[in-house]
Amino acid sequence: MTAKVRVRFAPSPTGFLHVGGARTALFNWLFARHHQGVFVLRIEDTDQVRSTQASVDVILEALRWLGMDWDEGPEKGGPYGPYFQTERLDIYREYAQRLLDEDKAYLCYCTPEELEMRRQEALARGEAPKYDRRCAHLTEAERRQFEEEGRTPVIRFRSGDKGQTAVNDLIRGEVVFENALLDDFVLIKSDGLPTYNYAVVVDDHLMGITHVIRGEDHLSNTPRQIQVYEAFGFPLPQFAHIPMILGPDRTRLSKRHGATSVTQFRDEGYLSEAMVNYLALLGWGYDDKRELFTKEELIKYFALEKVSKNPAIFDQKKLDWMNGVYLRELSVEQLVEAVLPMMIGAGYFTADELEAQRPRVEGICEVLQTRVKTLKELVDTSYYFFLDEVVYDPEAVDKILRKDYVPDLLATLVAEFLRLEKFDVPSIEGVFLRLQEETGRKLGDLIQPVRVAVTGRRVSPGMYETLALVGRPKACQRMKQAAEMAKKPASE
Ligand code: GLU
Repeated sequence: MTAKVRVRFAPSPTGFLHVGGARTALFNWLFARHHQGVFVLRIEDTDQVRSTQASVDVILEALRWLGMDWDEGPEKGGPYGPYFQTERLDIYREYAQRLLDEDKAYLCYCTPEELEMRRQEALARGEAPKYDRRCAHLTEAERRQFEEEGRTPVIRFRSGDKGQTAVNDLIRGEVVFENALLDDFVLIKSDGLPTYNYAVVVDDHLMGITHVIRGEDHLSNTPRQIQVYEAFGFPLPQFAHIPMILGPDRTRLSKRHGATSVTQFRDEGYLSEAMVNYLALLGWGYDDKRELFTKEELIKYFALEKVSKNPAIFDQKKLDWMNGVYLRELSVEQLVEAVLPMMIGAGYFTADELEAQRPRVEGICEVLQTRVKTLKELVDTSYYFFLDEVVYDPEAVDKILRKDYVPDLLATLVAEFLRLEKFDVPSIEGVFLRLQEETGRKLGDLIQPVRVAVTGRRVSPGMYETLALVGRPKACQRMKQAAEMAKKPASE
């Protein structure tokens, strides 16, 4: 029987959860759920300058939003904790001591300044800088001398110089590294904190991790980690390095390409289900080129064998399309629940007015659901239902409003609207149809000026519904204002 699958997501809490991190978390989570294994969340917070609690919070929030529940980790605990690396410093010390005792590691007293100087000298000689192993074989007297000088040592790993280290990667196959290129890297720094390449091995081993699934940018770290595994005599986990995510210009995805943080996508109105579906396709695919998957289907089909070696391109347009698909699948009630807080946030109405606004918001969601790709787009485009000021598209004003017949038309319509008993869709439609008959004008020529007058633009959902939802007072006031605007020459 093979061991139960245990995987981990190990973010460094130095910022937001980015698309790349979220995709790594998702592949681990899907793999764990597919194999009924365990998904561990470990916080790699040993960079004490850059790690913050705010970042931990935002990472957990993003994972929760995406529905990636962890079985062990912060808030949950678990049998292999603590799950914050800074709470495991004694463990790293103890294990480093083992390596010292077995002469697989040594104390190094070189100061950062000395190291930097020698690095510069090596560069000047045209050599690749690496630690020159000056402290690799200190005598007891030399050691004492350094201690007396008040130097605090680091612990360095005695890494193999000869031969090669092969990484057998589940995605990339065998990747071989020359050991001569690996130097005696630091395990524990002079401040007592472990380095990534060391702590990750101790933790992955002690936490029983069976598969290390992470970004390809860590592939070059893996030979170092393998050497540490071997020094301890720990069995190796399986490694799977997943391809990088690039922007459309094929450079590494970054802020330059737009939103990259998961919470930002949430705030911009992307749906968690769409985001998960989209992230899953960044480097993984299913046989028949299918693109839409529920979470359950992703769990069922996910396999590392289907992860590509090639970089994945983050395509915002495709994400928008996919989000639109998921958005249209929501019930109106679900959509209303999602946009109500955003509309309050946008200042359309206050939390106290929420219940009173709900029926209108339902109507607005009904007419806009098929026309937008994100919740934010829905909220943004619906501003004219709520706010007093309409922003007029100058071209629409010129082309549609500044026609001779428009001021009279708008005045007539306002008068007709004010006469209506109820300002609802059938009554509004009745007014337009009657006017069409009386004037002999095309319906579009009657509707377009009203659309520009009331929404500021040439495109909107059906005009009768829009008018009813904007409400009689606002609609009439805007039409009067637009009639005035229509009389003025374009230059004003
Ligand atoms: N803390 C590392 C990172 O965020 C983890 C890498 C790994 O999964 O080994 O990149």
